[in-house]
Amino acid sequence: MKKLLPLLLTACSTLPSAAPHTFVPLPEAVAPLEVCWIDTGGVSVPGGYGVGGSPEAKTWEVTSAALVIRHPKGDLVLDTGISTQAQEESRELGGWSAFVFGQTAGRNLPRRNLADSLTALGVTRPLALLLSHAHADHAGGVSAVPDVPVWLAAEEKAWVEAKTSAVLPAQARAMTGRMVPIPFAEKPFANYDASFDVFGDGSVVVVPTFGHTPGSVATFVTVSATKRFVHVGDVINLGESIDRKVGKSWLMRTLTDEDDAATKAQVAKLVQLREADPALTILAAHDRPAFLQLFGNDDGALPPCIGAR
Ligand SMILES: [Zn+2]
Repeated sequence: MKKLLPLLLTACSTLPSAAPHTFVPLPEAVAPLEVCWIDTGGVSVPGGYGVGGSPEAKTWEVTSAALVIRHPKGDLVLDTGISTQAQEESRELGGWSAFVFGQTAGRNLPRRNLADSLTALGVTRPLALLLSHAHADHAGGVSAVPDVPVWLAAEEKAWVEAKTSAVLPAQARAMTGRMVPIPFAEKPFANYDASFDVFGDGSVVVVPTFGHTPGSVATFVTVSATKRFVHVGDVINLGESIDRKVGKSWLMRTLTDEDDAATKAQVAKLVQLREADPALTILAAHDRPAFLQLFGNDDGALPPCIGAR
């Protein structure tokens, strides 16, 4: 069995190849952007929890990140991290949902407080909270930033409104009345068919990556000529998934992916994206070492930021 298990995990993580696709290059840096990383919480688990096959990373150092994207036209918060009340909020969950929460988002220990960090950064009224998806470790901070629109894909909005057991009820209530569907246009960007150009200048572009949840999205951010990344939510958990061309671990796929085949197809698209644009950082939402590499150490009074305003 000991020998069988790794084989089984490897077999399960076989990826399809993405269909050939035209590639629309990312723009040159067009606006002075500043991006800050707020590490709201995390945990350290074995690397095999995060990635299929034989992991290169011995441990998966998890961040539950919120990003603040500061553009001359306004501030955008991409994901909101964990809730400071997540354990209380989870009490409404029963059975399998409570188990999944306890094995995943519920394991996070708090680090930086989202509301305090936004205040410290001088972010008083963001344009919106843009969610890669509505799971508890991404939507946890919505209640801490009231009266601001919550942008998410129409498919994700419908999923939240259908009271899926994969979204904490208290967090769904915090989103109610302010969810705005992302207006995707049939305009190709990178290797995707549809896109939403947030500021109209190509600096921040959202694309649909449905699979992990019904309306998961990824966000391309061009900070400078040398600092460009795509935040891919939970399509993958560790960057090495792309280098090694494997999806997530069997465990995380089983516990967290709504549509296994669609998620694998999204991983395959990221492999294709890497080949088309090798210098672009593919940033998995919970890959703390990748955030450290992009943003530098997180040991100051303020959350670390890159770019300029
Ligand atoms: Zn997550």
